[in-house]
Amino acid sequence: MRKVSIFGATGSIGQNTIDLIKRAPDAYEVIALTGARNIEQLAQDAIALKAQIAITADETRLDALRTALEGTGIQAAAGASAIEEAAHRPADWIMSAIVGAAGLAPGMAALAQGTTLALANKESLVCAGKLLLETGRAHGAEILPVDSEHSAVFQALVGEPMDAVERIIITASGGAFRDWPIEDLPNATLDQASSHPNWDMGQRITIDSASMFNKAMEIIETREFFGIDPEKIEVLIHPQSMIHALVGFNDGALMAHVGPPDMRHAIGYALHHPARRHLPVERLDLAAIGTFEFRAPDDARWPALRIAREVMARGGLAGAVFNAAKETALDGFIEGHLKFTQMSDVVAQTLDELDARGGHIDATMTLDNVYQTDHLARKAAKAAIEKRAR
Ligand code: NDP
Ligand code: MG
Repeated sequence: MRKVSIFGATGSIGQNTIDLIKRAPDAYEVIALTGARNIEQLAQDAIALKAQIAITADETRLDALRTALEGTGIQAAAGASAIEEAAHRPADWIMSAIVGAAGLAPGMAALAQGTTLALANKESLVCAGKLLLETGRAHGAEILPVDSEHSAVFQALVGEPMDAVERIIITASGGAFRDWPIEDLPNATLDQASSHPNWDMGQRITIDSASMFNKAMEIIETREFFGIDPEKIEVLIHPQSMIHALVGFNDGALMAHVGPPDMRHAIGYALHHPARRHLPVERLDLAAIGTFEFRAPDDARWPALRIAREVMARGGLAGAVFNAAKETALDGFIEGHLKFTQMSDVVAQTLDELDARGGHIDATMTLDNVYQTDHLARKAAKAAIEKRAR
């Protein structure tokens, strides 16, 4: 039996992972499941999967979790440090699917035990990619990408030499506002930004898809994960979300990964890697689909894409600033303090401000420096939001 843990079990990626695990209950021994607010789901899955321990990030919900698990023999715990501790519990495969920078510490802990980390939490790669990869290498851990584009690139690269790669093209659906007149974007509402044309995902990544901050994060994720030069990374708008990425080789060949927009593919690939096993995803009927469309991305509509390039050019801890500012700006939009288009203004301003203050972006990458930078960037972004709200 393979020992598995799922961090962010109650979320969209977590639930898709659990769907796959539940289909083969005898193959897996579930060690830890973590959530935050959704105690009912966490307890229900912990019981169904006979987990050793269930942990909520929210300490005020520990009593509710204890009550829900009473008499089951399953341990209950709460708080960020309990989540990090659970990542030290030996497991053969760990899913990192917490949303936001909160996924960094458990991801690092999982890598330190030399396990296989299925990485959906792109924020940890954006804010501390170098550290994460070095920790993985130092402990002989394997990191497998779960983001659909990066799983697609990873699959297209099997057996291929990295030095023959000329370019990596990641696709983007264009999100909710792909076809909106640009002048209407400032008035986009939370409801409108929270619905994705193709993918069923958590609210934060769905809004990030509409603003293209998700793709901006993914450009940086591509750079970190595959160690490729920024100028070799391209974004292509592909409204159908069926070609997830393409790898261009030095002989002109393009290897494309095609599949339905269902995260169980990328999760299942990481779960069974290096084997390929049957997965319960739709088989595409290309004749019925008929056409795939492509467009060049538009930096005027999606300034996030330009900001990602600047972040890569700045290097150092700019990714940590970018991620923290982006998370704070997203909170600002969700809470109604920022207009949709002001999110990118706040992120750009925070990057400039921390750059100008000196030292923060250039500091060496240690976990402490990443957290300190994250803290400073959140503070600066909050101040920028308050100024706009006034
Ligand atoms: P969701 O919002 O659906 O789920 C997030 C998970 O994290 C939930 O289990 C949530 O608990 C938990 N959580 C929230 N805040 C905290 C915190 N502070 N500390 C610990 N746990 C917390 O997100 P998604 O599943 O959509 O995304 C998860 C990650 O995967 C993100 O990094 C995202 O970018 C990435 N990803 C997602 C894709 C998708 O298709 N959804 C595709 C590619 C990447 P609770 O719900 O109980 O509050
Ligand atoms: Mg993606």
